[in-house]
Order: sequence, then structure tokens, then C-alpha cells
Amino acid sequence: MNEMEAKTVLAIDLGGTKIKMGLVRGAEILSSTQINSQAGNGLQERLPEIENCLNQLLDKTSVSIRDIAGLGMAIPGIIDSVDKKILTINDKYNDAPSIDLTEWARNTWNIPLFLENDTRAALLGEWKFGNGKGYDNIVLMNLGTGIGTSAVIEGKILRGKHFQAGILGGHFMVNIKGDRCNCGNYGCAETEASTWNLQKIVRNHPGFSDSLLFKQPHLDFKTIFQFAAAEDPLATLVCNECLEIWSACALNLIHAYDPEILILGGGIMGSKEIILPYIQEKVNQNAWAVWGKVKVTEASLINTAALLGVGSLVI
Ligand SMILES: [Zn+2]
Repeated sequence: MNEMEAKTVLAIDLGGTKIKMGLVRGAEILSSTQINSQAGNGLQERLPEIENCLNQLLDKTSVSIRDIAGLGMAIPGIIDSVDKKILTINDKYNDAPSIDLTEWARNTWNIPLFLENDTRAALLGEWKFGNGKGYDNIVLMNLGTGIGTSAVIEGKILRGKHFQAGILGGHFMVNIKGDRCNCGNYGCAETEASTWNLQKIVRNHPGFSDSLLFKQPHLDFKTIFQFAAAEDPLATLVCNECLEIWSACALNLIHAYDPEILILGGGIMGSKEIILPYIQEKVNQNAWAVWGKVKVTEASLINTAALLGVGSLVI
């Protein structure tokens, strides 16, 4: 096996709606595919199809399994990356913590397994190959179904004793009178301003029945930003409230982890032309940073950061 081939890895990004898979070599994705998660049915049931897809990627690229250094998996939960265990996973893939994935990787391909939290993996990707390149102190905030966060401090990815350091920024309390969160607490950043609770956020407003949003069959942030641009009063109000919540979360992350740069990713960043300058201005105004200004920027590896990140973990 030559040295380049030795650095090829199988990578899986286990998402709530899609499972992305790729054959990764450094910054390059040689080949990739995705399937629907059907996360409600559990992970065990999806393993045969995942095996199938990865074997097809190997066939397609003519890379031999003998030249694969390992399998990296990015997972939406709290992950013991040392013992390679899924400690908790939120409402998805309920059976995952009881599956021995190390054994699965060994029995299927005879390769070692590496696990990491998905937002941490995404930050590893952005740090090594994306907009975090060249920085040693970075915070990532992914705005999507929930709010995922992670941090690199002094050139090291932050994990902590119980593997939960840096990744719980979505559960920073930003409203002590807020709604109940799926974590059991109240008024978390992701309860106040992320997609999973958006229907409730919008429908609970007194102006809902008078708003154009009332006639929308499906409410997502894209729709909210569109109607705000058309000056619908409720959409404008919800937009402004969410921008405030994301800014508060960003400031909390900056005060907790002391980054030089804040990277914003996730599906909601489809409206980045509004979100980025708004958060940058709030950060400039309110972050405690006598040394200068925290740079707020967008993620550059939109669909591939976690795959590249877990790839780098294997090497
Ligand atoms: Zn919470």
C-alpha cells in the first residue's frame, strides 16, 4: 500500500434526516452518497444499507479495503471518543448507545472505528480544511434543527472530562421565562430560536392569525425570512427575536471559550446575508474583548465538514 492510499478513510455523518457517507483522503472527498435516516426505526436496521453504500463507494473508486485506515463516524449526541461509545443521543437512533460499533467495523471491514460528536467533527473539518484554517481558537455555531456548537482552544479541540465541553451551547439559557426544552430545562437558545420549535414559536404569537404566515402550510426559517423581507409584521418580529437569541448565544460562546473567530453554519444560514452582519455587529458592540474583535464568518464546507472532520480523526 502506498502512503496516499493508507490515508484514505470511510466516513459517515449520521444526521437526523440524512446519513451522508464518503471516501475521504485529506481535504478531498473521493466519492460520496447519502440515504434517508429513518432515524425513528433505530440505527441497527440501517447498518446493512450503510455497509452496502460504503462498499459501493469502494467499488466505484477502485480503492481496496486493505488500503483503508479506518472508519470515522460523526454522531448527533454525546460521544465518548476514547472508549468509542455513544453516551446519549437525542430522540433519534434510540438503539445506538447499545450497539457495539467497534465490533461492527471490525466484523464488516476489519478496520478501526473512530467516533465523534457531529458538531465537533464539523469544527475539525472547518479548522483543518475550511474557514477555520490558520486559527488556534475557534467557536462553531450551527443553526439548524437545533443549535450545535463546539470549540477549539489553544490548538486543541475541546472535549472535557465527560465529553460534553463546548457542545452544549444550544442549551445556554437565554430566557429564564422561556419554553421547556427537550433537555428538560427552560428557555435554551435552541428552544427559543431553532427549527424544531419554530412552529410553536410562531403560532404562540398573538398576531399569528392576522399574519400571512397563518396561511403557510409549512413554516421554516427560509419562509420566515422571506415574509420578513416582504414586511409581514409577525415574520419581522420573529426574525428579530431569533437574531437576538443567536447573538446572545454567540456572545455566551465567546465569553466561555475566548475565540479569535466565530464560524456560523447550518441550514438556517441560507439567510446568511442578514444573519452574519447582524451577529458581527452585536459581537462588536457587546463581546468582552479588549484585545480586538472576534471575526464572525460563515462555514465554508456546507455539506462535507463533518465527513472531512471525522476523516482527519482517523489519520
Ligand atoms: Zn435545552
